[in-house]
Amino acid sequence: MAFMSYLPIFLKSDFSSPVLIVGGGLIATAKTEALVSADVHVEVVANEICQELIQLCEQQGFSYHQVSYDSSLLSGRHIVIAATDEDEINQLIAADCRAQGILVNVVDNPLLCDFIFPALIKRGPLQIAISSSGISPVLARLIKQAIELLIPARYESLINFLQDKKSAIRQRLTRLQPRRLFYEYVLRSSIAEDVLEGNINRANQTFDNALQGASNMRNASLYLVGTGPGNPDLLTLKAVRLLGQADVILYDRLIPQGVLEQYGRKDAKKIAVGKTRHHHHKKQHEIDGIIEHHLTRNRIVLRLKGGDPGIYAHGAEEIAVAKKLNVPYQIVPGVTAANACAAYAGIPLTERGGAESVRLMTIYKDQINDDRFWEKFRHSQTETLVLYMSSNNYSTLCRKLIELGFSPKTPLLVVEQGTTTHQKDYPATLDSFDVMCSDYQFASPCLMIVGDVVKWHAMHAWKQSSLIEGNYFSNLPVKEIEHA
Ligand code: SAH
Repeated sequence: MAFMSYLPIFLKSDFSSPVLIVGGGLIATAKTEALVSADVHVEVVANEICQELIQLCEQQGFSYHQVSYDSSLLSGRHIVIAATDEDEINQLIAADCRAQGILVNVVDNPLLCDFIFPALIKRGPLQIAISSSGISPVLARLIKQAIELLIPARYESLINFLQDKKSAIRQRLTRLQPRRLFYEYVLRSSIAEDVLEGNINRANQTFDNALQGASNMRNASLYLVGTGPGNPDLLTLKAVRLLGQADVILYDRLIPQGVLEQYGRKDAKKIAVGKTRHHHHKKQHEIDGIIEHHLTRNRIVLRLKGGDPGIYAHGAEEIAVAKKLNVPYQIVPGVTAANACAAYAGIPLTERGGAESVRLMTIYKDQINDDRFWEKFRHSQTETLVLYMSSNNYSTLCRKLIELGFSPKTPLLVVEQGTTTHQKDYPATLDSFDVMCSDYQFASPCLMIVGDVVKWHAMHAWKQSSLIEGNYFSNLPVKEIEHA
């Protein structure tokens, strides 16, 4: 790793001895203010202490001493901040602390720091800490500003309200999932809006009614959710919301990086059920079995599918499980690879006066030598064809289309790992594909777009072909957690 890595934790701030700040200038003052806002007790030591800092210490009841640094000052400390304007003294403090196992922060010298201060968003007890691991505090601050805007200033009152209600909720709803759903309801309902506006009486009343009516019942449900073509930014808002609710998440290989960690609950069961051309990790009936197992235990089950769940994605069996158990289900669309790859290659899939329609297709093994299958494409010259899977049949498709009367110069494009950091585009024509690419083993997943609209790739492509080799998607399921 090229940068220092840091462990994000929140320490309890009631240390048995005050945090020692060595230094008496503006920076020491700023650090003291930051610590005051986290209710930390501070002691200041410096040859000279500025008036502002003295005032702050007196206001807060902190002791301060106008003396030189001496290692005996460290005795019994947990945390020390070196904020003098002399590098040598700061280095000495850092070395002394390290020798005694005391956590030290040296202002403006990340290499000597055991810990660094994050950019902080604070709404009473709610704290969001942001760090760029010391690489760019400016970036951290910009992110902080963006998040500040998302969180109403009066959020503190909401957190305090929840704190007041915590034990009543726990008493009434003894099980975790109903409790979580109830909290979610409170946060999304008029109760939260009333609290934010200061209408506490009404909020209390609505809350009491809602809690009376809440029950320990859990709601089993199944969601088939499309996760788009691989770029996490192309997830839908609904997919993100449901990821936050699910008790059990079944996923396969083509899900965007990071989605489980970023949006899934920590305590959700995450089960890899991936299939690749050469590796069937779980058979469909096993997947159905897992879904049934969890639905009968009243869990919210998410079945994630790359792209759209209705395109080359076998959702029917899984829906049948929900129907059999009489459990509600929903299908959540995702951006399918054809749309996504075309957009990322600058190609419109239809065009007035050109491509009248789009055909999503694949070629199954038994179709390759079936004339009736190919006959369907005889009049496809005014269509855009998008071939899913079947990358070992690209040459065959090119040859067959020429035989059916397509112009040999019809442009085509293969897109590998579209929309991801690894996307690569390979333009060719029906008659040049073999010469250019027949020996090439395309990285998975990839698809081929054939048709006149591909001419736009040369003019409108906006995403650079990646220089990164290898796979964006994991080869096999990353990990598997037993179902219980
Ligand atoms: N349900 C998915 C398709 C699943 S079939 C969807 O709607 O996109 C898997 C095939 O989809 C792959 O073999 C490949 O042809 C295509 N595919 C999926 N993601 C892709 C991507 N990021 N880039 C290129 N092709 C992709």
